[in-house]
Amino acid sequence: MTEEKLSFQAEVSRLLDIVVHSLYSNKEIFLRELISNASDACDRLRYAAITQPELTAGDGQFAIRILADATARTLTVVDNGIGMNRQDLIDNLGTIARSGTANFLGHLTGDARKDVALIGQFGVGFYSAFMVADRVEVITRRAGEEMGWRWESDGKGEFTVAESPEAGRGARIVLHLREGEDEFLQPYRLRQIVKTYSDHIGLPIIIVEDGKDNVANTASALWTRAKGEITAEQYKEFYHHVAHAFDEPWLTIHYKAEGAIEYAGLLFVPRARPFDLFHPERRQHVKLYVKRVFITDDCEELLPAYLRFMRGIVDSQDLPLNVSREMLQHNPVLAKIRAGLVKRVLGELKKKAEESQEDYAVFWEAFGAVLKEGLYEDFERRNEILELCRFRTTKSDAPVSLGEYVARMKDGQEAIFTITGDDPAALRKSPQLEGFMARDVEVLLLTDPIDEFWGSAVTDYQGKPFRSVAQAGTDLGKIKKPEASEEAEPPAGELSSLIAAFKLALGDAVKDVRRSERLTDSAVCLVADDGEMSMHLERLLRQHRQVDAVAPRILELNPSHPLIRRLAEKTSQEGMGEALGDMAHLLLDQARIVEGESVPDAAGFARRFAAMLEKGLG
Ligand code: ADP
Ligand code: MG
Repeated sequence: MTEEKLSFQAEVSRLLDIVVHSLYSNKEIFLRELISNASDACDRLRYAAITQPELTAGDGQFAIRILADATARTLTVVDNGIGMNRQDLIDNLGTIARSGTANFLGHLTGDARKDVALIGQFGVGFYSAFMVADRVEVITRRAGEEMGWRWESDGKGEFTVAESPEAGRGARIVLHLREGEDEFLQPYRLRQIVKTYSDHIGLPIIIVEDGKDNVANTASALWTRAKGEITAEQYKEFYHHVAHAFDEPWLTIHYKAEGAIEYAGLLFVPRARPFDLFHPERRQHVKLYVKRVFITDDCEELLPAYLRFMRGIVDSQDLPLNVSREMLQHNPVLAKIRAGLVKRVLGELKKKAEESQEDYAVFWEAFGAVLKEGLYEDFERRNEILELCRFRTTKSDAPVSLGEYVARMKDGQEAIFTITGDDPAALRKSPQLEGFMARDVEVLLLTDPIDEFWGSAVTDYQGKPFRSVAQAGTDLGKIKKPEASEEAEPPAGELSSLIAAFKLALGDAVKDVRRSERLTDSAVCLVADDGEMSMHLERLLRQHRQVDAVAPRILELNPSHPLIRRLAEKTSQEGMGEALGDMAHLLLDQARIVEGESVPDAAGFARRFAAMLEKGLG
């Protein structure tokens, strides 16, 4: 069969253009990427061979070999892993298959200098080979298949694929080095790069020098080594490899569980949010190994979804090597490992929270919204998770714990008050907070969508119930205002007539009209009845088309507001009926706007508003 010529996906061409034209100072990372791929390929074949031993027949010793040819000026990386067939080559080395690279492209600015810096942060996998090579060949044969294939490209928009009958199992990546890149032909330089970036790889990485094999790395899986022998740098490189991430881990947890169940865990909490954190599938990402053999990176039973930000590996001694996906479901050993992992992770988070508020806030900003899912998904650990939660409040921009909040509750305050919305700055201005501010009562500002959902599962913290300030029955009366400046209020009779007139005018548009305890500066506000969905939740659900109707709310009037006082005086006057009705509608619309709701009858609003303005001019 002859050679086929194919085009790279447009995104790959864009990426290659940046890679090739960048004066990237850290070019040596290309070797880390190729070794990482080779190691993944060996892991995958090792796993496949558990059920199909014939796949590794004749060559069961996995290794990665690096050969430099000074005459041909080529650097070759060879593995005896799973390999690729024609379609694999086209899919994997012609498109952006990997998440990290796609993410990289999403961050591109178009400014070459900034984009080059991004390469360092994200890594671009296989394509980084073009930083040092002007031509790359991949000669490969997929384990278990007869025919081998040869892929070749100069990185300029196109690549070729042709049959290669002599290809061995696995992949041989040949880099034809660019002018000036001869340092990558020096064995000492190659050794240094392997030591720096790839020492954690569990397979021997062999540098062939004068025909002799020299193993350049420690070649034992990192998690099997003693903690004291592993440097922070090595942990970081392992994290980059296992998580396909390029940030600094925020937390590294490395331990061995011994006793009834034996396993090793090497787990990381990233510093930055992975791009798919809020993907609806909520997949967890910790990889499962059994006795050093990679089994799967897709084992849902290993960790609960609310810890899906975790990265790393778990290596079990007790599961059978030929464990299948079905066996992993409802597996009692796995259930115990999971319980152990959750306990460990929550325990380590607690330690971090106690050590440094500031550092913990970094974690909380990135992953708090995910951890909070545990409040309603993990009944047993609810209190433990609640202790780990932090909240912005009306008094603190730095997130505070519930313990801190409770310690500064006011005399007579029985509940933990909350307000939900999209943005802390907007929430702070909400009229519903006025009465709380006047009484110096702190309120938690809940701005994650998830905050609308855990409330129903978590009734209290240390016996103190959570209560939304937008709920009707909030009992503020028991908490004294600091300066007891009783504002003038209309006589009770006048206020009741005003309320009656408003009810009549507004009809079904409101559930009720009543006097407010919570307002000090605004004339009116809307609140939800006890046990009803909050307005913020209703808006969220409407955005996702889960509900369409707008439930009528309670309109509260501030009796000490001058406008309400004047209106109350005028209620009994002759001929006020129509003006009062317009006023009631205008005030209801105003309350909706402040709440972030839309005005259902915009034309009516405009007509009434214009009429009022005209009257104001006399
Ligand atoms: P990633 O490793 O993050 O998936 P890369 O760009 O490094 O992204 O590699 C793309 C894909 O090409 C890999 O996912 C893998 O399927 C395939 N691949 C790369 N190198 C090899 C190899 N040595 N053996 C087998 N497959 C490989
Ligand atoms: Mg890779």
